[in-house]
Amino acid sequence: MYNREEIIDEGLNIIENNLVNDETIVFYDFCIKARIKVTPVTEALAAAQGNPGLLAFTNHNIFFVQRSGIIKPTYELAIKIPLEKVAHLDTSGLVMKSLKITVSSGEGEACIFLNFKSVKDKDKKIENIMAELEEIIQKNIKAESVGSQELGITVCEYCGEKNAKTNEKCVKCGAILKK
Ligand SMILES: [Zn+2]
Repeated sequence: MYNREEIIDEGLNIIENNLVNDETIVFYDFCIKARIKVTPVTEALAAAQGNPGLLAFTNHNIFFVQRSGIIKPTYELAIKIPLEKVAHLDTSGLVMKSLKITVSSGEGEACIFLNFKSVKDKDKKIENIMAELEEIIQKNIKAESVGSQELGITVCEYCGEKNAKTNEKCVKCGAILKK
């Protein structure tokens, strides 16, 4: 078994050491990173078999510090996703909330976190701060897009695909590219 408070303390320590410049933590919670497909039928199993750790959103990145080992636990930064690479965030589940993070094409696989339950402040529960997180992600996509324009690239605001500046439509999803 593991101690949630310990995972949060160790996780925050590691994440704080990885923050740069103006980066601050917006949300964090203990959760389980699923290792199997999560459906209403498999969620209990996914939670029991997954990797416990701390998931955090900063104003620039998503971090997951994973706890491994039984007798002598170790903690490592297992995931760092720049927010401009996030294509979708989806929460589902009635009893056990899960969060699916889908990254833009070519940036790796989607990951699913579940069993959030340490946050006592109701307003800070994962399902209640989705709008805030989406807004922060859009800000990061815009900031990256401004940076890319100087390189002759237009980033699709729907799927995150990098397109040549001369393209009218996104090569990946077909959306009209805003210049
Ligand atoms: Zn697109």
